Amino acid sequence: MAETILEVRNLHKSFGGVQAIRDLSFSVSAGEVMGLIGPNGSGKSTTVNSLAGLFSATSGQIVLGGEEIQHLPEYPRVAKGLTRTFQTASVFPEFTVREQVRLGSNTTLKSNPLASVFRLGGSSDEEKRVEARIEDILHLTDLHRIADKKVSTISSGEQRFLMIATALAADPKLILLDEPAAGLISHERKTLSELIKLIRSRGIAVLVIEHHMALIMEVCDRIVVLNFGSKIAEGTPTEIRSNKAVIDAYLGE
Ligand code: ADP
Ligand code: MG
Repeated sequence: MAETILEVRNLHKSFGGVQAIRDLSFSVSAGEVMGLIGPNGSGKSTTVNSLAGLFSATSGQIVLGGEEIQHLPEYPRVAKGLTRTFQTASVFPEFTVREQVRLGSNTTLKSNPLASVFRLGGSSDEEKRVEARIEDILHLTDLHRIADKKVSTISSGEQRFLMIATALAADPKLILLDEPAAGLISHERKTLSELIKLIRSRGIAVLVIEHHMALIMEVCDRIVVLNFGSKIAEGTPTEIRSNKAVIDAYLGE
């Protein structure tokens, strides 16, 4: 059995009177791709934001690598190995692709993060290791071809891959992909599913939220389905496809 990386136990989140997540439990193992799907308003974003620490859950536990993290703010969760894709690509348009990816590795550095971006200081073993990992990630995500281009000059599809590369640079145990296929054209979606499989092959746990059903069904080992904040089904893509509660939830959209 692969090691359990993430365990969500009885998670609840209310916004005033609205119960956005009710008693949600599931787990993701190393090298497993878990899909999180559900109709609009079913609680997917709230789940991701609770996991990432954007806000705290009302109750319940989030266990990462055996350690409870639900009390931690966002940044320490990244340092512990839980990272998400966010829209950082446009934040530093003057950075090159490689510099942007290097910025993602900050959490793994003991030294000053800015020193890593501007390559100040010597070349300690630690820095060499980080540089090697950045090159590895640039190849993995197929961004090495454009590594020296400015972020502002690359296509929106390339920017989405850059977000994943930046998240990978943090050396995560678990990566949260929030609608990674949004805005991608057909051949980019194919590259994305190959990349998700490569990430899985490295033993990283992946939690992916996506509206693009074909992609979800292709890349996920298991899928959790939410409706009105509750888990209504969990299983393999084949099981989920033929699940009556799931079909009804989507028909009701
Ligand atoms: P999904 O991502 O699946 O579309 P959300 O997690 O965004 O669903 O929303 C789940 C429910 O929580 C919805 O009823 C939504 O209106 C409510 N909700 C989400 N965020 C907030 C918020 N910040 N304040 C109040 N209600 C919210
Ligand atoms: Mg959402």
